[in-house]
Amino acid sequence: AAKGGGRGQYRFYSRELQEGAKLRRQLEEDLRDALVKKELTMHYQPIVRASDYKLSGFEALIRWEHPERGFVSPEIFISCAEDIGMINQIGEWALFKVCEQASEWPVELRVAVNVSPTQFAGSDFVQMVQRALQKSGLAPERLELEITESVFAADENLTREIFRNLKELGVRLALDDFGTGYSSLSYLRNAPFDKIKIDQSFVRGSTDAGNNNSAIISAIVGLADALGLETVAEGTETKDELALVKKRGASHVQGYIFSRPIAHEEALDRLSKGQLIYEPRGPERYRAD
Ligand code: C2E
Ligand code: MG
Ligand code: MG
Ligand code: MG
Repeated sequence: AAKGGGRGQYRFYSRELQEGAKLRRQLEEDLRDALVKKELTMHYQPIVRASDYKLSGFEALIRWEHPERGFVSPEIFISCAEDIGMINQIGEWALFKVCEQASEWPVELRVAVNVSPTQFAGSDFVQMVQRALQKSGLAPERLELEITESVFAADENLTREIFRNLKELGVRLALDDFGTGYSSLSYLRNAPFDKIKIDQSFVRGSTDAGNNNSAIISAIVGLADALGLETVAEGTETKDELALVKKRGASHVQGYIFSRPIAHEEALDRLSKGQLIYEPRGPERYRAD
């Protein structure tokens, strides 16, 4: 399918999905094949340090290029994978792929992988992480697992045990989309996070008058600082948003202002060329591509 039509097709697909159970079943069937047919890939989005825009690492984001429908958003197919019991398989594939690819980078940067709550609570998740590290040879401190507040909906004791075991492996933990779930502060009391990712809904439009986004960003950063955690302002698109999240003290920035998620080959190419400092780009640059 044509890359250029991806966005429109995805919107079309998502509207159709809301309309029909038949299409949903089709999606499920296609998803079962996608792994086998190698239609899934991992893309990588830079995360930069706010003080000097130095590359700190990449977030790995899964991509599905459907042969007829083009790009299908992970927002759609990840939840589908959860429903049909495929999330562990897809999550395992993603974890191994990311560890393997990151172990090939000429610069030893961090890589963040998203982990769905179902996968996290699965019986052998910790072992799976251990095997991925062993197989790839990736240093554990380079691997960061991004989880959302919804993991706390599961058995709290189990969740804490998984955290403990993961920290024993030496991997890092990031709390993703912070502020959008049931952000009970009690989650932060004992959980061994290294980083809080401020949800993009607070960042986008943070410069508009008449909302509390900027105050909320300040509060999250204040909390993270007090706990000794890094903060990432996700979804930063414009120069004004960048200026604001820096002023509010976010330690790291991620968003189209610096780069969209890119294919692994391109990430590798940039690293090989020593591109470690990013420049904020004008909004016209990313709106076009
Ligand atoms: P997330 O982990 O919060 O990822 C950030 C999302 O924001 C990504 O969308 C990224 O492409 C997008 N983004 C980054 N910067 C900007 C920006 O400046 N503007 C805008 N408009 N968007 C920006 P994506 O790749 O569509 O992924 C959506 C969600 O799907 C992710 O949210 C994550 O929850 C899930 N996901 C993606 N890859 C995986 C995966 O490998 N495994 C699992 N379990 N979930 C994944
Ligand atoms: Mg994430
Ligand atoms: Mg996020
Ligand atoms: Mg998200």
